[in-house]
Amino acid sequence: MGDNSFDAWRRHSPFYGETHEALSASVRAFIQREALPHVDAWEEAGIVPRDFQEKAGAAGLLGLGFPEAIGGTEDGIDSFHKLVLVDETARCGSGGVQSGLFTHAVAMPLLIDHGDPALAARIAPEIIAGRKILAIAVTAPSGGSDLAALKTVARRDGDNFVVSGSKTFISNGMRADYFVTAVRTGGAGMGGISMLLIPGDSSGIARTALRKMGWHAGDTATLHFDAVRVPANHLLGEENRGFRPILRNFNWERVQAAQQCTAFARIAHEEAVDWAAQRVTFGQPLGTHPVIRSKLADMKRHIDTTQAWTDLNAWRFDQGTESAAEIALLKVQATQMFEKVLREAAQVLGGASFVKGTLIERLYREVRVGAIGGGSEEILLDLAGRQLGYGTQ
Ligand SMILES: Cc1cc2nc3c(=O)[nH]c(=O)nc-3n(C[C@H](O)[C@H](O)[C@H](O)COP(=O)(O)OP(=O)(O)OC[C@H]3O[C@@H](n4cnc5c(N)ncnc54)[C@H](O)[C@@H]3O)c2cc1C
Repeated sequence: MGDNSFDAWRRHSPFYGETHEALSASVRAFIQREALPHVDAWEEAGIVPRDFQEKAGAAGLLGLGFPEAIGGTEDGIDSFHKLVLVDETARCGSGGVQSGLFTHAVAMPLLIDHGDPALAARIAPEIIAGRKILAIAVTAPSGGSDLAALKTVARRDGDNFVVSGSKTFISNGMRADYFVTAVRTGGAGMGGISMLLIPGDSSGIARTALRKMGWHAGDTATLHFDAVRVPANHLLGEENRGFRPILRNFNWERVQAAQQCTAFARIAHEEAVDWAAQRVTFGQPLGTHPVIRSKLADMKRHIDTTQAWTDLNAWRFDQGTESAAEIALLKVQATQMFEKVLREAAQVLGGASFVKGTLIERLYREVRVGAIGGGSEEILLDLAGRQLGYGTQ
């Protein structure tokens, strides 16, 4: 029998070595000890307790790839260590747990690369330690795809900005202590957007929790800003030039999203293979029926090609040759692969896949958000098409 285990892909890939295996073992042990026994209860409660964030910080999960000076681990870390982190935290089968852990991964570079050094030095170590939570608040209720049209306004008033407006679908929105927030400080379009670090306990912020189809363990919120005063030194980068740094950050977020999809799909495939080996129909194991055997092989075909392309894009990041167009296409490939594999895994399990509380039922509910969050399929295909010059002849 071939190697269908969750880890098989790493053994077949030239990009992974001993340090990646060591990281995988330590993150796996953490997830098995600290998350797996509780994940069903967290899904039910719709929130992950704060102390899990601190445990993850203490175990080094939140600092991977960030500078030593703020408590992170940067030396010897490449993109594949970061993929391993995504992969192993996905093993608890809950996108909500992952989104709860890692919103800072997208927000933090804006703080440490573009923020006031004293501000970053005070706040960033708290986030890496898991004592504070940092979220990214870009999407506006008026529309998430058209970032350049966002309406949350920050008006300068002496040593402060005064922020008014709303954000929605914000992961960790209920728990976050700080929000890296996209605001309009200038005129219309992308040239009027700035990034501002807004403390969550500022007067004038209200939060409304959103109930969702999936990512149950991760909280998601709409934020309302009513004349919130934010010190002017909380501006991240130059005024009215916040748009490009946000866009640059999305590239790595999308590669990670692709890895999350392949990890979840490999879990689903493993479940389907196990089930097909044990379940007997028409007097023989389900997996020996040619139609089911082909289905399992076809799932693997989709997963492995997507994983290989994810690895290639991670490698290109390390070479400094990443391509926004290719990454956009990769994310679409990954979310569509995830949708296809989960559908087929559910078919193999039959009625059991429809029962609440089973892993396949939960993963099935995680499919839709991938195709929308962090750049929807339509927007990413169009972005790639434009960058590749299609339709311009
Ligand atoms: C669970 C969850 C967590 C999220 N977490 C965060 C977060 O932490 N921070 C944050 O800032 N945002 C977050 N988001 C928001 C997410 O990035 C947006 O949902 C996404 O960008 C799409 O925006 P929208 O939902 O407003 O859809 P819209 O922009 O209203 O688009 C609706 C649909 O129309 C399509 N569409 C729009 N314009 C076009 C066009 N020109 N041509 C063709 N099709 C088009 C889109 O692809 C989409 O399918 C999260 C979303 C979800 C669901």
